[in-house]
Amino acid sequence: MPPSPFGQLGVLPLELRLETYERLFWKPTPSVSILCCSRAICEEITGRLYDTLDIELTPSWHSSRLEIRCKALRLHWEIPYSTPAIRDRFSRLPYHKTNLQIHIYAPDPHDPGQIILLWNNIRNFTSFLEAATIKSITIDLKEHKGSDWQDAGRAVESIPYPGTRQPDHNVVFLPFCRLCNVKSLRLVPSSRRMDRAIDWGFINYGRDFILNNGYETYNDGPLSRDPHYRDVVRLFDDLDGTIRDMQFFLNTQLDLLPGYTAAQLRLCRAHCWRPVLFPQDPVYRDFFATLRNCPRAIKLHDPGLEKFCIRDWHHWNICHEADWQSPKWPWDEWRRRYPRGMPPLSPETVLGYWQAIPSSPGHGWKNRGDIERNGEYHFWMWSYLHRNWGQQSIMRFRFFEREWCTDCRHMGFQSGCEKGCERLSRFDFREAWEDSDDEGDYSDPELVL
Ligand SMILES: [Zn+2]
Repeated sequence: MPPSPFGQLGVLPLELRLETYERLFWKPTPSVSILCCSRAICEEITGRLYDTLDIELTPSWHSSRLEIRCKALRLHWEIPYSTPAIRDRFSRLPYHKTNLQIHIYAPDPHDPGQIILLWNNIRNFTSFLEAATIKSITIDLKEHKGSDWQDAGRAVESIPYPGTRQPDHNVVFLPFCRLCNVKSLRLVPSSRRMDRAIDWGFINYGRDFILNNGYETYNDGPLSRDPHYRDVVRLFDDLDGTIRDMQFFLNTQLDLLPGYTAAQLRLCRAHCWRPVLFPQDPVYRDFFATLRNCPRAIKLHDPGLEKFCIRDWHHWNICHEADWQSPKWPWDEWRRRYPRGMPPLSPETVLGYWQAIPSSPGHGWKNRGDIERNGEYHFWMWSYLHRNWGQQSIMRFRFFEREWCTDCRHMGFQSGCEKGCERLSRFDFREAWEDSDDEGDYSDPELVL
């Protein structure tokens, strides 16, 4: 008889081996050293360990919000926020062997920040899955503390989306649409009442899109030519744009949203904010990418970026008042100073509110000194606002910009350019500096040549 790949454990029948493994994992600190014993044991354990994972996504601020549980082995992780290390760890679970049971609890529309909290945690969770092959996903939409996904036979939309409707069940499903290599996907409504009340068009289309790897390939699954889905198809033609649009919409709405959760999320946002002088900072790369790739989001949700500028201004105010110490405050310090969270950003709560709006008549941005104080980042912003939103003009580095593509000239910045402008550095163009007092010339560099 050849030696068993399970070593001495091989003499035990499978059931007893599994029981042995489970006992090892039942301890308060599971012993994982057994995973190093042999490849066969490791395979057997991971198959058992990750057979089913339950993911709980709750919308209330005081619960843990994103939890991953393995009932069979009593493993339990709470993931309150994301870091690269956390993402790395949870991206490497063997999802190809795993049934994911994802329970999403209905947000309370009277506390509309809850849908944003859910959105943030779902985006965090789906980021773990983006490179994975997944055996199966079941998304279980559940009622929660008297809230449901429908109310009186109509789908709940916690934050009204302009022009059309984006009910909460579509918002929570959207981040899943970027997943590929999903072998099976099922959605379970909270009740028959919900099943009848809501329009499943977006979810049905999205399910088809995911199972056909639409994100990696093309948006041409079986439903894409069905006239019934005409309005939905375009949302999937540029899925990244649709997700960016939703992110920008929710972030903008958060400025004025009532309720406890919104106040806490605003405080969280202030806590994470950093004074940025250079537009190359990773925090702002994503913002400049939205400006460039998703202009409809700006037009629809924050024309002229007025709300964005008020928010940025408010965060600068806090930083100045705190003598530049606020970026170092731990979360507890923010909680101590703002026990009820951050109030909505209005003229009553934001110092110098009208001054913060770039094109505000009689106030606004008109001083070159503002830019020089706030660094290159504001130079880019001003340049973008001038070329796209009628903000007063500002100096322009003609000789430098001559090397840019038309798109970059239109945007007023190079970040996110696919044609290579991003590789050009202003410091390589001596003429750009020599010409820097030539404030009056806004002619197209093409014509100057
Ligand atoms: Zn370019």
